Amino acid sequence: MVTKECRSHVVVIPYPSQGHINPLLQFAKRLASKGVKATLATTHYTIKSICAPNVGVEPISDGFDESGFAQARNVDLYLKSFKENGSRTLSQLIHKFQHSKSPVTCVVYDSFLPWALDVAKQNGIYGASFFTNSATVCHIFCRIHHGLLSLPLKLESGPLLIPGVPPLNFPDLPSFLRLPESYPAYLAMKLSQYSNLDKADWIFDNTFEELEGEEAKGVSELWPAKLIGPMVPSAYLDSRIEDDKGYGASLWNPLGVECIKWLETKPRKSVAYVSFGSMVSLTAEQMGEIAGGLKDSGLPFIWVVKESERGTLPDGFVESTKEKGLIVGWCNQLELLAHPAICCFVSHCGWNSTLEGLSLGVPMVGVPQWADQLTDAKFVEVWGVGVRAKEDDKGVVRKEELIMCLKKVTEGEKRAEIEKNANKWRESAKITLSEGGSSDKRMNEFVKQLMIRANEKGEEANDIPNGRHLV
Ligand code: UDP
Repeated sequence: MVTKECRSHVVVIPYPSQGHINPLLQFAKRLASKGVKATLATTHYTIKSICAPNVGVEPISDGFDESGFAQARNVDLYLKSFKENGSRTLSQLIHKFQHSKSPVTCVVYDSFLPWALDVAKQNGIYGASFFTNSATVCHIFCRIHHGLLSLPLKLESGPLLIPGVPPLNFPDLPSFLRLPESYPAYLAMKLSQYSNLDKADWIFDNTFEELEGEEAKGVSELWPAKLIGPMVPSAYLDSRIEDDKGYGASLWNPLGVECIKWLETKPRKSVAYVSFGSMVSLTAEQMGEIAGGLKDSGLPFIWVVKESERGTLPDGFVESTKEKGLIVGWCNQLELLAHPAICCFVSHCGWNSTLEGLSLGVPMVGVPQWADQLTDAKFVEVWGVGVRAKEDDKGVVRKEELIMCLKKVTEGEKRAEIEKNANKWRESAKITLSEGGSSDKRMNEFVKQLMIRANEKGEEANDIPNGRHLV
């Protein structure tokens, strides 16, 4: 029996990749800082990478406990296996806590894993979907799911016009929509996020009212999401969570101290930080152009090149740039972005990286590769915090283009304008998470409703309706 004093207990489940664990773990930390018991449930393979004080960690299975996705090697197979094994082990986890002091009252699941909502409902507890993409991207996929846009999106008669969203041209669209046949399993997954959403008690999105309120409002009847982002560690924004300087999850070993030591030797605002995130693999041709652009730009740089990609760097590049450049396999991105020596961020525009650049006020050069990165890069320009590098007919960003973009974000009038916008958005990101800010209010409402419901549940056991009555 749950007593009135009992805290609510939320189990948070990310899709097990770096770009999904980070925001969901941050959400769990925020909940914990507001008095909720939070447990992150993640796969056996990723669990050893998590270290977040005040958040419990429990394993669930994706069926590939040794090495996760790399073991499955096939998206379809992996997703099916995760659904089957994840549903079973999540249910077991909920049962495990059932007779403890803190039974699970709500599952907050990554929207990529809609089966988790079914598990929550089967177990008579609340379910909340957490979207890790921008509101614009969620908006577009939601419209497609509801048959209000059809695939492939052609845009022969002009840009895509949807309520609340600036006109989007073909190059700005998520790649799964430009070429639906290119990644059928991922496209199906993106659309499945909406399949049972009418049963969710809450919907969250990692963005914020001031940034994307209009884009979210344009689809709010179908997707009434609470905007609670940016899910960036507190030390970089509101500083209200003690010692919250990193996400607390790293699937690779970061070269921390070495990067900072190296940056300390560089003048203020002089270094370009370059990263394409955790998933993208550039072609050897694209690597060559980025390498050439960085070298010829004359800027000092730190470039994250994963071990598996080292072989695609041009011969002699590391040697010939060792005075100016540092190549690392992985780093603490936020620590670098926050460093005074950094002048700009060359990014693939994954949504987390985009929010991090924006939250830390670092001018960006978008070099998007696939998925929603193309749309995020468009918004880097819409918000005036950077520029997007243009690809040639072969889809490659040439070194001359990269150099031109680097010039724009580091020199002259354009730099001044971008810096002004970047500072403005940084302030806005701080305010939204601070006491009384819009994202903070949304989180407080959630916590309050959870507490009320947890107590009610104690009194009227098992009386949980199936639907979005709390949204
Ligand atoms: N990241 C990091 N170190 C690196 C590169 C990236 O910590 O060397 C983090 C980055 O801060 C971000 C995440 O990895 O939170 C990548 O997420 P994003 O959505 O930007 O891209 P994805 O990896 O999903 O493509």
